[in-house]
Amino acid sequence: MTATAIRHDWTVAEVRALLEMPFNDLVFKAQSVHREHFDPNEVQVSTLLSIKTGACPEDCKYCPQSGHYNTGLEKEKLLEIEKVVAEAHAAKEKGASRFCMGAAWRSPSKKDMPYVLDMVKRVKSLGLETCMTLGMLNEDQAGELADAGLDYYNHNLDTSEKYYNHIITTRTYQDRLDTLDNVRKAGMKVCCGGIMGMGEDLADRAGLLVQLANLPQHPESVPVNMLVKVEGTPLDQVDDLDPFDFVRTIAVARIMMPASHVRLSAGRENMNDQMQALCFLAGANSIFYGEKLLTTANPEADHDRQLFKRLGIRPEQREQSHTEEEHVEALADAVEYEQTRHMFYDATRESA
Ligand code: SF4
Repeated sequence: MTATAIRHDWTVAEVRALLEMPFNDLVFKAQSVHREHFDPNEVQVSTLLSIKTGACPEDCKYCPQSGHYNTGLEKEKLLEIEKVVAEAHAAKEKGASRFCMGAAWRSPSKKDMPYVLDMVKRVKSLGLETCMTLGMLNEDQAGELADAGLDYYNHNLDTSEKYYNHIITTRTYQDRLDTLDNVRKAGMKVCCGGIMGMGEDLADRAGLLVQLANLPQHPESVPVNMLVKVEGTPLDQVDDLDPFDFVRTIAVARIMMPASHVRLSAGRENMNDQMQALCFLAGANSIFYGEKLLTTANPEADHDRQLFKRLGIRPEQREQSHTEEEHVEALADAVEYEQTRHMFYDATRESA
């Protein structure tokens, strides 16, 4: 079998045609592509710590952390380094191999940057992979983070360029592309995706996927989020997306970016087991697990374990020193640990 070519020349018309394929044909095609690059029965599992919550100056219309909306979210200042390191250490003890840290900022300030860099160094020194989402980065900031040892940076495009102004007005689409460019130039891996169900149409979903796949290099990780409607945000009342259109988006992301991890992210708590299984069949192979995804509820970690078991799915092995059995055990320990720690949020997202 010839492997699907990695392409960067997708057109919106071509992607629309994929999104409109008969459902069974599309999912079959996506699953076939998926098997060329990945074990179909493995799903990568990540955890995320919010290092600074709420009071964000940006106006992303879906986000409960925006200071523009009153959602009753409890704000938290930047966590002390020692607390972050302690959480990272405990997570490692429980089997985590990557530690993701998210802050609700427009971009890291001069004042905060030294703390953030120290956090990266300290977490890295524990032998963990590091990932952060801190908002926009200029070239210098990206370089400093890379030098400190940051492996991944998350920064989402959210939607198509055409629909973007309906969702965010405080930063431009080009600002986001510039940050992604700075992250790449600094040599870090990119985590970048979007949110479905914000009132966008099929052409917008195609437009977002084209933007992602036509980047000079595909993001290593592509989170596909389903909008979580939070009371107090402007998108609270938006119409629901047809769940099959969400699965279609996952399938087309898999076909267009065959070697990337496609992450089933925010919104998973509103999906039943059958819907999640369909997403895995369509090529999703990464999730966040736990009680919360930054600030939105996420399916209980224990339920995730049961779902994995029922579907015969194994957590992707990240550390060669662990046997599969040890890794499953470590995941179980991590789940138990997280259920007792309010600061951990099992689950992606993303979107600072
Ligand atoms: S998505 Fe990120 S940048 Fe936008 S308001 Fe929320 S925390 Fe701020």
